[in-house]
Amino acid sequence: MKYCSTRGQSELVSSAYAIKKGIAPDGGLYMPTEIPTVSKDEIEVLCEMDYAHRAAEILYKFLDDYNKDELLADCIEAYREESFPGGAAPLHQLDEGGYVLELFHGPTCAFKDMALQIMPRLLSRALKMTGEDKTALILVATSGDTGKAALEGYKDVDGIAIKVFYPVHGVSKIQKLQMATQEGKNVSVCAIEGNFDDAQNGVKKIFSDKEINDKLNDGGYILTSANSINWGRLAPQVVYYISAYCDLIKLGAIKYGDKVDFTVPTGNFGNIFAAYIAKRMGLPVGKLICASNRNNILTDFLTTGVYDRRRKFFQTMSPSMDILISSNLERLLYLICGSEKTAEYMNRLNTVGKYKIELSELNAIRETFVGMHANEAHTLDEIAFVYEHAQYLSDTHTGVALYCAGKYRMYSDTVMVTVSTASPYKFARDVLTAVGGECGDDEFAPLYALNEATKVEIPAPLASLKEKKVRFDTVVAPADMAEETLKILL
Ligand SMILES: *Cc1c(COP(=O)(O)O)cnc(C)c1O
Repeated sequence: MKYCSTRGQSELVSSAYAIKKGIAPDGGLYMPTEIPTVSKDEIEVLCEMDYAHRAAEILYKFLDDYNKDELLADCIEAYREESFPGGAAPLHQLDEGGYVLELFHGPTCAFKDMALQIMPRLLSRALKMTGEDKTALILVATSGDTGKAALEGYKDVDGIAIKVFYPVHGVSKIQKLQMATQEGKNVSVCAIEGNFDDAQNGVKKIFSDKEINDKLNDGGYILTSANSINWGRLAPQVVYYISAYCDLIKLGAIKYGDKVDFTVPTGNFGNIFAAYIAKRMGLPVGKLICASNRNNILTDFLTTGVYDRRRKFFQTMSPSMDILISSNLERLLYLICGSEKTAEYMNRLNTVGKYKIELSELNAIRETFVGMHANEAHTLDEIAFVYEHAQYLSDTHTGVALYCAGKYRMYSDTVMVTVSTASPYKFARDVLTAVGGECGDDEFAPLYALNEATKVEIPAPLASLKEKKVRFDTVVAPADMAEETLKILL
């Protein structure tokens, strides 16, 4: 299977090459030239497998230049019980016809683990398959969650080193501790005196600085990024939609062929796009509800066909969805409108800040996608409502999705799976407020108070944070990030 750019101006490449490069030379994103299928018979076989085996079968359809036995070994390692206690993507029934797909049981308690536990192994193999003899140095600028998930995923992976920069005052104390205590031989973490943009700009500068790149090359390193637009992060996300469908069959909630709707709390459009790929593979998926918070640019797009990023940015209690440019939407445009139109729309987005798709294109998108959003009050109320009526504690991102799913289901009898992307303990202070609790200022206080109030267990990776040793306490000025990066050569 070959991969092409969404903007149509790059050569076709193998999946290993697409994963190694991340972004296509013309600025587009890599997509498979055809979408593989998953048949009724195959679903029946998948039903009898555990998550790791399901993942290997489905990934191999997209990554057919990989060795299937090695893929399976990687999946078994990535989704093992120690990393995902209780299973990688369990379903929880909320009510008649309503389910939650829990994607937060990984090492950092957020759904990014679903991709970032397997993707480093895919990259490590891709480096070997493409004859790369240098070590890949992953540079990440993070505002919190991605950095920790990347560190956990890339730690001790062959042929790879990772360095994460975060703004010293721009992350929560828990997030800072999560990163500062990171274990692993090939990891390093550095705070910078500045905000997230300073960290991001510093990393971009290092990527484009020839002198630094040459020095690193001479020392045996090539620079790579762990970006969410890499196909190696998207393909593993297709798996849990198919896996959830299998689990619904096994539960007796549906029989093969019955449609299932999904509601997905959306930011960069990666998670929900993976659901769309599953549908295009032939999985009987009905509607995909694209749930946004107050930054509801996608709701507007799905209603009017106009994508306009020239708008106010809001900071909300679901920060991983505070996004105005949903990068993976480009992949949907490519499938609906083709590469020429996609390149034109993306060009307008970069130059004018806005584009409008044709009515026929909007209608094709709306055959599957429904845009909805929840404001801050809706989100808090929904968390309280679901806790009271279904005894289910959800995080703030999931709260946005549950609100949208609830509204949609007033007019639908189709089975609804709401995707849950974070543990309530990752956003404990707001969740505690929602269920009517109070606590002191200490960063661990909301965890204990929420546990006291709800008796829901604190996930081990967060509970154990207090006992972990701080390994990284370096703070540098943004101007010194390059020098800091070159320390890997010492
Ligand atoms: C990243 C993230 C999202 C958004 O997912 P996208 O794939 O970017 O749409 C939602 N919730 C949480 C908790 C996240 O970390």
